[in-house]
Parts: sequence; structure tokens; C-alpha cells
Amino acid sequence: MRINRARLAESMDALGKIGETARGGLNRVALTDDDRRGRDLLVRWMKEAGLAVTVDQMGNIFGLRAGTEARPPVFMGSHADSVPSGGKYDGQLGVLCALETLRSLNDRQARTRHPVGMIVFTNEEGARFQPAMIASGVMAGKIPLEDAYNTRDRDGVRLVDELERIGYLGSEPCVPRPMRAYLELHIEQGPLLEEEGLPLGVVEGIVAIAWSRITLHGVQDHAGPTPMRLRHDALVAAADIVTGVRGIARRIAGDMVGTVGRLDLTPNIPNAIPGRVSLSVDFRDPQEANLDRALAMLDHVVHVAARQEGVRAELEHYWRGGGGRRRGRGHLARLRPSPHPLGRRPRRAVHGRHLSHRHDLRPLPRRPQPLRGGVHRARRHRARRQRAAARVRAPRGCRVGYSRALRRRISSS
Ligand SMILES: [Zn+2]
Repeated sequence: MRINRARLAESMDALGKIGETARGGLNRVALTDDDRRGRDLLVRWMKEAGLAVTVDQMGNIFGLRAGTEARPPVFMGSHADSVPSGGKYDGQLGVLCALETLRSLNDRQARTRHPVGMIVFTNEEGARFQPAMIASGVMAGKIPLEDAYNTRDRDGVRLVDELERIGYLGSEPCVPRPMRAYLELHIEQGPLLEEEGLPLGVVEGIVAIAWSRITLHGVQDHAGPTPMRLRHDALVAAADIVTGVRGIARRIAGDMVGTVGRLDLTPNIPNAIPGRVSLSVDFRDPQEANLDRALAMLDHVVHVAARQEGVRAELEHYWRGGGGRRRGRGHLARLRPSPHPLGRRPRRAVHGRHLSHRHDLRPLPRRPQPLRGGVHRARRHRARRQRAAARVRAPRGCRVGYSRALRRRISSS
């Protein structure tokens, strides 16, 4: 079965206009007005495709195409939210390839024994409400609904209030539901497939992630009169930690990566010694054990940095996720008939992984796609037509993957 590539490209363009940044990227953070507009458009398309559309208590949107038998559905999907400077292919591609697959089934008036459907997950990115993948986490039974509802963004706004405000506080229970399979197409968020010249890869495993936050309490003082020997500069200690995180990742090596992505500084003015700094640390590695090592090393780095500068440090390892199962070899074999060579890569992003905790949900792994430039963030996106075309061409491989996998799934059960 072939999909309609032009229609897929048009849909990508139309949905990508909602929250489009001046530089051709995407700023459609979860549960904002733009997220609502994007959802409204998707729901309209889903209804036009004849899908039965429902919304659950976490705002996850489901669209189902009936099968000829009362069997558990095969679902495809992804997320429609972005980070503040996201790319148009992260999330959207998975959602719209799912929709395009369903539209193509309609075009052929194809009948399937299993129902086939799509899911649009809420707040997978976690840019606004933490943790990331909170809605799929609730659905997988990993996060209590009440906890998710009470999660607040940086302005103190509760997730449940925003769900209600944008009209996506659904009534369907957000619980594990019967599924024959779950498939997700996703761009690779790193440069490896492109580096190796592979248009498609199959995810074998999901990296484990650990998040920590550190607050350093120094002594805020005037920049002029305070001699260097009397300073307790929270930012200097933070700088040591930033360098230390790099050092930890280098020492563990392999696939370990470590990032300090957030730094909050008080008072953050040119003529004062920073009195308080808080920073985030994000470690990722396919092997959980390496994360344990990294966190132990981080404890040490923070301790030494604080002692050297005479500041007090609070360190909290507050979230762990991802990791664990390695799947995909069997699926890789099934996908072999694809005209494209397939690469295998652990993926560094984790959206959707909660689904894999459901024992009666047997997800096919996501297929990460390479993206020209290797980076999906907007500022590095080239908006040029040619490049866009190159990216849109990628789904051809996914079409093969989808259709074969679906056919296999549908006929084998
Ligand atoms: Zn994503």
C-alpha cells in the first residue's frame, strides 16, 4: 500500500503553520493556545477521515477506524506538542504519518480485521509540565492521575486547569487499553543515522535518563568592594559543576551524555556576586548502571565544588526514566524488505516509552529518521524548499515499514 506523499506534505505544512517560528521552526508548547489550534485541526482531519474520535482524562486524543472483527486495535501515533524552539518533524511526523496511513486505508476502502487507530499524546516533550511523557505515563499506570493534574508550569498554572481551558479535558479514563500493537515513527534527534548515511533506523532500546537539580547558596555581595579572597560565589561553584558534568560523561564514555541546560541566577545583574544559583543536570545512557555511576560522580563533583568556593549545596536526584528493554531485532528482520538499509540506534529521546511498560501492549519500536543537519531544533533547520523536500522524502521508507508491519500484525493475529 502506498501513501499519498503530497497529501502528507500538505498536512505537514498546514499543521506546521500553527506555532511556526520566524525561522521556520515550531513553538507549540503543550496546552497553549497554539497547541489547542493544532489539536483542533488534527481532530477535524481525523473526523473527516471517518475516525471515531475520543479524548481521555489527560487530553490524549484517539481516533479509531473500525475493523471487521472485535479485536484489539493497532495504534500509531506520536505527540503534537513541541519544545519552545522545536522542529516541525518532531512529533508531527509521527502523528501525520499515522493519519496518512489511515487516510490511505480509506482511499483503498481497505478492510482490516483489527481496528486501526491513531493517538496524539499530551505533553510528551515536558517543556512546560514536568515530567516529560506525563500523559502516556498516566495511561501506562506509571503516574497517578491526580499527580499529573496537579503538576504546575513555571508560572504555577496547573496542568488540569490548562487542559480544561483549551477544551481537552476529556472524559475517557486514561488507563491502559487493549492494543494489538503500537507503532511510532519519529525523527532521530541526533546526527548518527545521517552520519552513517542511513535513511531509517529501528529503535532497539530507549536510553535511561536521570535528572538532578542543584541549588548553590553563596554570599551575595557587591562586585566592587568585595576582595576575591572573601568571596563565596555561587556561580563559580556552578561553573565547576558544569565542567564536572562534561568530565563525568567523558569518563564514563560510550553512549553516556551529560547536559546542564538550565541555570537560574540570583540576582543576575552585572555588579553583584551571585548569591544563589540553581542548575539542572540531565544524564542519559542506554545502560542504567552507567547512570548510577554518573550520579555518584555528580555527588562528588558538587561536594568538591561547593567546598572549594565555600558555598552550601543542595542536590536532588529527582527523576529517573527510560532504559530497560531492548527490543527490535525481530521487527528489524520483518522490516528488512524495505528498499532502504536500516540502521539500529539507541535513541536519546524517550517520549512514548511509558507505553512499553504495559505487558499487554507490545509496541513495535519507533523508527527514528535522520534529519538533515542532524538536529531537529528550529534554529538549525534549513527552511529551504529543497531540504524540506528531502525530509518529506523520508516517510517513503516509513510507508514501507508501516504497511508491512501492519499487514504482518493484522494477518498474524
Ligand atoms: Zn518527539
